[in-house]
Amino acid sequence: MNQQIVSNSIPSPEKDFQEGIDWVTSLFLFLTPMFGLAGLFYYLSQGGIPFLSWMSFAFFVFATGTGITVGYHRLFSHKSYEASFPVKLWLLFFGAATFQASAIEWCEDHRVHHKFVDTDKDPYSIKKGFWYAHMAWLLQKRKYTQHNVQDLVADPWIKFQHDYYLPIAIFAGFIFPGLLHMIWGSFWEGVLISGALRIAVVHQSTFFINSLCHTFGEQPFGEEQTARNSWWIAILTFGEGYHNFHHEFQADYRNGIRWYDYDPSKWIIRFLSFIGLTRNLRKVSEEKILQKSLFLKEKYTILNYQKSNMVLAKEWLEALPKLRSQVMEAKAKFLSLQDEYNQHKSNLKKDDKLTWKKRIEQSKEGFQLSLQSWSENLQSPRTLVV
Ligand SMILES: [Zn+2]
Ligand SMILES: [Zn+2]
Repeated sequence: MNQQIVSNSIPSPEKDFQEGIDWVTSLFLFLTPMFGLAGLFYYLSQGGIPFLSWMSFAFFVFATGTGITVGYHRLFSHKSYEASFPVKLWLLFFGAATFQASAIEWCEDHRVHHKFVDTDKDPYSIKKGFWYAHMAWLLQKRKYTQHNVQDLVADPWIKFQHDYYLPIAIFAGFIFPGLLHMIWGSFWEGVLISGALRIAVVHQSTFFINSLCHTFGEQPFGEEQTARNSWWIAILTFGEGYHNFHHEFQADYRNGIRWYDYDPSKWIIRFLSFIGLTRNLRKVSEEKILQKSLFLKEKYTILNYQKSNMVLAKEWLEALPKLRSQVMEAKAKFLSLQDEYNQHKSNLKKDDKLTWKKRIEQSKEGFQLSLQSWSENLQSPRTLVV
């Protein structure tokens, strides 16, 4: 992982969180929802908000929200894919419009979060409380040293966004929506609805990733750190709710790995790759993900048995890894058959295709059976009577 190489190779200095209140950020966080709501009620009382204005609001919520998730997070922080120049510019522009700092500062915090998650050095550690992780951490002044973002500083466009962050953010976040609304309505309606109100909404959505995603949900990929997977938080966060997977496999461009997992950020990156605007999408292999989840399920189930004072039979304990490797072998066989078929299917005749599909189906069933027998064995431990 590039990101790990970068953050491990340069020593991370201690951060000073004790410099007092960051009044500018604090006031901004307080005033944007106030102005946004005041604008909302004012325009509603003046005969309502036109449909086009709501469309614009929705566009800015989505474009700037994914500016953070697709851009600041998955592209700049984790380098989970490569983006073409126009995509990079779009993400830098709409990322700035969220008023969440420059990509360089945002990524510095985020890379420290991954490296030191749940410790004192984690800038938004959930161990300091839900509200601290949600937004209270932003009220304190922080020092930025760029120690772990030198790869981003070296990119002239990311550096440009950092150097001219404030004028870019003001233009992209307030003036641009204002000008857009002038086509059918008023400049100030754009500033207040697609500007202030939208910034407040997207702020909360991003903040949920640091608070809700470390509090509610499942931990199928590890309980060593607090990150959790939750489908309903994914809906609120443009797909970032599968945070347990993300902390375990941070270089993967996906957060929700199943096709039906709600992860619009993943779908955007994938769609852009189809039209040639993103490339080299990094993905952890299915086998690696399965191996990790089986291993952890086994580990936590055994720990739970031991916690309830069960003395587990040695043969039973020894049988588990064997059954697990059978599951892995069956999975590998199924995946390689599927790959082989995909490579050759254009040259196959109709009958041959049917035979191949049958073979694939059989190997899938074999995998499911081995998984079932591993699971049944795990759920029915043999114990020693003492
Ligand atoms: Zn996290
Ligand atoms: Zn991350």
